Amino acid sequence: MIPKSHPRYRSLVTRERLAGCARSGIVSWEGLTAHGRGEAFDYLLGEKTTESARLAERTAAAMLTSARHPVISVNGNTAALAAQEIAALQKASGAQVEVNLFHRTEERVQQIEDLLRSAGADVFSGEAERLLPLDHDRAWCRREGMYSADVILVPLEDGDRCEALVRMGKTVIAIDLNPLSRTARRATLTIVDELTRALPEISRACHDLTQKDKKHLTESLNNHYLLSEAIREMTERLNHALD
Ligand code: ATP
Ligand code: MG
Repeated sequence: MIPKSHPRYRSLVTRERLAGCARSGIVSWEGLTAHGRGEAFDYLLGEKTTESARLAERTAAAMLTSARHPVISVNGNTAALAAQEIAALQKASGAQVEVNLFHRTEERVQQIEDLLRSAGADVFSGEAERLLPLDHDRAWCRREGMYSADVILVPLEDGDRCEALVRMGKTVIAIDLNPLSRTARRATLTIVDELTRALPEISRACHDLTQKDKKHLTESLNNHYLLSEAIREMTERLNHALD
């Protein structure tokens, strides 16, 4: 047990949770290393939501609530870290929730769907088909779900699938702490923030935004600006790291 007084209590508890979820099969072993990469970038951000990330989160809320068919794509890490936050965002935005996995087995899909349902999410399941133009298992999705989405939120996404979804003409919103990843650079909108901080901010904004705010946010989206602000914040912290 980690004592609450430990300065890194929160991140150590998160690691314990992910390790437990890896043992039960919800998180893949590769997912654990992806989390480590995320942690490193969060360290550079000072483990807080920056002003530009908040702007990205409000823009995400505007896009999700204005969409014809919004979908939240959930993988093992996302379910392990934020099942309740996903359920809350689904309620706030009206989006479908669908599981999509890189290391896919029917058993893992079932486990993750059960975890999401026990957190209160209404999971869209049923017959999956190989519908996305990818040569690995992330190609599997549902015709009436992700395949038909116009706006899709992809927390902790892989670059290949992000590119494929953009090529299919979808508006892709990524949550990724690494502003240099292919996902971050290819997505329509990138939120450079930690998943469990980002999701509640998006939900809050779904409730708060007026129609006028939504129009203004979507029309003024500039992802290059959002990414360069994230890099500037990290560089700034590094420049003063030894002060
Ligand atoms: P890409 O394929 O997009 O070039 P990658 O191969 O470097 O990226 P992946 O493993 O495909 O990385 O995707 C995982 C991404 O999720 C990483 O960029 C990591 O920084 C990010 N990440 C991990 N944990 C979190 C988290 N809790 N919150 C936000 N982002 C995270
Ligand atoms: Mg990748």
